[in-house]
Amino acid sequence: MRKILIIEDEKDIVELVRYNLEREGYQVAAVGDGITGLAELRKSLPDLLLLDLMLPKLSGLEVCKEIRRNPRMNRLPVLMLTARNEEVDRVLGLELGADDYVTKPFSPRELMARVKALLRRTEPFNDVKKAIQVGSLRIDPDSYRVSRAGKSILVSTLEFRLLYHLAAHPNRVFSRDELLDAVWGTDRFVSPRSVDVCIRRLREKIEADPEAPAHLKTVRGAGYLFESGGDGAVEP
Ligand code: CA
Repeated sequence: MRKILIIEDEKDIVELVRYNLEREGYQVAAVGDGITGLAELRKSLPDLLLLDLMLPKLSGLEVCKEIRRNPRMNRLPVLMLTARNEEVDRVLGLELGADDYVTKPFSPRELMARVKALLRRTEPFNDVKKAIQVGSLRIDPDSYRVSRAGKSILVSTLEFRLLYHLAAHPNRVFSRDELLDAVWGTDRFVSPRSVDVCIRRLREKIEADPEAPAHLKTVRGAGYLFESGGDGAVEP
């Protein structure tokens, strides 16, 4: 049974979400603040985290940052719950490594669809993947970590999957639709534009100059490719 942890301080929302998740067969646990939430995650990892942004003690953003920094937790899919007036925080949340968000008030149906889509696309890779080292950039699928010159870079699970997919096939052009199929799977909430957004975020994170990327190149009218510059090596 898939386990979902909810970190949310509004009891009405917790009860609504819990009811709907349990009806779909998920095992649900809930805590009301960020500190308790992190302690719970350190004890045992769920399959997915529903994380409220505005939390007592430690904000959702801080919780998310800590999750992405921690090698034991950083593959955890995180779905953020945000209020309408948290537009800026919402974007920040994604940059800090949330995988998706829903805006309050949300319908249970929308939330369930997001949960299912996120679980589907973050299913662990079932074949053995190797770390990729290109110059000072390292992409390690064991821990879902990206680092540059030994320094960790915070990426969401989705950003990781996109980067890994491109870097595992260096210098090969992928159309947006191919990338959607390979990375997002059958998620009805995404459009080819989602690929552009994700690429832009990755460039800001991994490229020395995001305006003149050395690796994540746009191929006009065709899509994207990862240029290894000939120094790419897949390590055992
Ligand atoms: Ca709250």
